[in-house]
Amino acid sequence: MASTASPPSRSTAGKLIVLTGPSGVGKGTLLKALRQKHPDIFVSISATTRAPRPGEVHAQHYYFLSREQFAEWVEQGEFLEWAEYAGNCYGTPRQPVLERVEQGEKVVLEIELEGARQVAKSYPQALRIFVLPPSQEELERRLRLRAQDSEAAIARRLSCSQTELLAAKEFDFQIVNHQLDEALQQLEAAVFEPTPLLSSRR
Ligand code: 5GP
Repeated sequence: MASTASPPSRSTAGKLIVLTGPSGVGKGTLLKALRQKHPDIFVSISATTRAPRPGEVHAQHYYFLSREQFAEWVEQGEFLEWAEYAGNCYGTPRQPVLERVEQGEKVVLEIELEGARQVAKSYPQALRIFVLPPSQEELERRLRLRAQDSEAAIARRLSCSQTELLAAKEFDFQIVNHQLDEALQQLEAAVFEPTPLLSSRR
């Protein structure tokens, strides 16, 4: 999926930040804390075919689409990336993200591994961060604590996590989410580091 945007110039550069990590690792909590401190950071709203969880609001947490609607968006090239994860489709609407980056904003995508790999190809200047759990047992504990998914959904997510964790080293930064405060500090340091020249990073 090729991006239509040209790379931002360095003087006015916005930043595209990809945050990836297994379901339940605490990406959402970290991002919420980051936005509380830095409300000017824009977190992209994804589209999904997953059913809303209690309390989730359309166009705020996700654009909740039917499979048919999602397929139409794919067909029309609306997505910067999209992937199927644990039985549902998820995608990042391209236009709001690229427009904001071009205007100099910091934009975060909270997405799974397959999508992160697509962004690395189509938008290699993106900063890619992987969030790890302190242990597999802790990940399972957090998924259950969240109490938002069925046993079957939890099992699917844990099974995906094994592949995902192996890919952590593909990313520019790895953050172990043991203590929220420490993980947040590391995330801030990565997000606000001066944009390095691409060639010096890869
Ligand atoms: P959940 O169903 O728990 O909200 O999300 C499941 C997984 O899908 C999470 O790892 C989340 O980061 C990922 N995800 C959410 N939005 C997107 C998206 O737009 N694209 C991709 N590739 N993954 C997404």
